[in-house]
Amino acid sequence: MEILDGKLTSASIKEEIAQDVAKFVASGGRKPHLAAVLVGENGASLTYVNAKVKACEQVGFDSTLVQLPVSISEEALLSEIDKLNKDASLDGFIVQLPLPDHIDESKVTMAINPKKDVDGFHPENIGLMALNLPTFLPATPFGIVQMLERYQVETSGKHCVVVGRSHIVGSPMSILMARNAYPGNCTVTLTHSRTVNLKEICGTADILIVALGKPEFITAEYVKEGAVIVDVGITRIADDSKKSGFKLLGDVKFDEVAPKCAFITPVPGGVGPMTIVSLLKNTLQAAKRTD
Ligand code: NDP
Repeated sequence: MEILDGKLTSASIKEEIAQDVAKFVASGGRKPHLAAVLVGENGASLTYVNAKVKACEQVGFDSTLVQLPVSISEEALLSEIDKLNKDASLDGFIVQLPLPDHIDESKVTMAINPKKDVDGFHPENIGLMALNLPTFLPATPFGIVQMLERYQVETSGKHCVVVGRSHIVGSPMSILMARNAYPGNCTVTLTHSRTVNLKEICGTADILIVALGKPEFITAEYVKEGAVIVDVGITRIADDSKKSGFKLLGDVKFDEVAPKCAFITPVPGGVGPMTIVSLLKNTLQAAKRTD
């Protein structure tokens, strides 16, 4: 069994980005600039946004954190997004999800200028991805394909089962694994809460990508011997023994699944850091855009 180490892989990608940024700036380019919009004070969201801002500093980007109150109206948020769309000093921005219930996430996603949509959630970018044309790939699936590539995981002709069909993870992941490219060329099964015989289907997966948000849901009996396991799930569980007061659990019961598989991502230190580095890659791509 080999660990797909997102911490290590993302660190080396960050170094490559930093070198690329230095060259870009030396040749007269402006430092890439990413803004992150955070609505409210959700602890997990704050942690993710801070990690993104810190990662920007590490690679030589400028970053701006736009913190808005949880009570902000949808209209006021859309007007903030309009300002960011028009801000020529910004190459890209993200709106950290989830948003409060009174705000329609899809309206917010649609309001972002696709050229600045470095999270890759806008329908235009999803459409380009589906057609296998150059675009910003959604950060988490992009991070996963980069990890598979760096570890030279064979994907062609394999059966890839994706658990979860969210717009930001499962659904785009299934498209990327099915495309005619590497990583890709898999036969893909996309599963969700209405799937019948989930255990049997997962048990036929050569590559199992799990994004459902239910801690330790995938046990050893869901997994075929020698499979590749990518665990996207991150759930905070109260733990008094930790300084933070919580521990992070993935969707896969790591201790019993790991001995069975060829490759597995840990939580934390797997998909999470790869998501952040993918956001940086998309932002650099946005900064270099000339159209
Ligand atoms: P969503 O809640 O949006 O989607 C969950 C999906 O899982 C849905 O499609 C749902 O099906 C499906 N599902 C729920 N229960 C079952 C079940 N019993 N059997 C099969 N499918 C089921 O989650 P996200 O995709 O946004 O996130 C998933 C997890 O990944 C979360 O833990 C989240 O924190 C984490 N995450 C991690 C990231 C990272 O960088 N590491 C980035 C983004 C998310 P249905 O559609 O039928 O409701």
